[in-house]
Amino acid sequence: MNFKDKIRVISDFPSPGIRFKDITTLLNDGEAFRAAIDQFSQFAAERNADIIAGPESRGFVLAAPMAYALSKGFVPIRKPGKLPHETISVDYSLEYGKDSLEIHKDAVQPGQRVIIADDLLATGGTIGATIQLVESLGAQVVGVCFLVELSYLNGREKLNGYDVFSLVQY
Ligand code: AMP
Repeated sequence: MNFKDKIRVISDFPSPGIRFKDITTLLNDGEAFRAAIDQFSQFAAERNADIIAGPESRGFVLAAPMAYALSKGFVPIRKPGKLPHETISVDYSLEYGKDSLEIHKDAVQPGQRVIIADDLLATGGTIGATIQLVESLGAQVVGVCFLVELSYLNGREKLNGYDVFSLVQY
C-alpha cells in the first residue's frame, strides 16, 4: 500500500506557509484505512499494549478502531472542558498556536502498557503532552504511532527513548 499517495497536501491551510497534510482522503479509502489500522494494531500487539489512547480529534479516528481490533480499551485525550469526570491537564505549543489537553484521572492505571495513536507528528508538542498525561498517572507508554511524520520539524527528537512508528514521512 502506498500510503503517501492517499494523503492530500493543501498549501496555506490553516494559515500561510503551512502545507497541510489532509488525511481525510486516506480515511475515505476503505482499503487504505483498514491497512493503516492493521499496521498500527500489529505495532500495538507486538508491544503487548493493555490500552490505546488518542488525542482529540484525529487521534480518536485511529486509536478507537485499533482498540476495537485488539479488544482493548480506548482512552480519549481531550481539549479542556470536554471530559466530565476528574481530570488532569497539561499545556503545550503547536506548529501553529498553543493549546492544552486533559485526561480522566481514572482512564489509565499505574503500570498499564499504553499505545498512543495520532494522525501526524509535527513539532511533537501534542504527543509530548499526551505522553506526559499518561505517565503522570503512572502508566507506561510502550509505543506511539502516526500516519504522517514531518521529519523536517524534528518532532522525533522530543521522543527520544520512545518507540515511534510512522507510515508516511515528509
Ligand atoms: P505537533 O503538536 O506540532 O506535533 O502537531 C501535531 C498536530 O497538529 C497533529 O496531530 C495534526 O493534527 C496537526 N498538524 C500540525 N501540522 C500539520 C500539518 N502540516 N498538516 C496537517 N496537520 C498538522
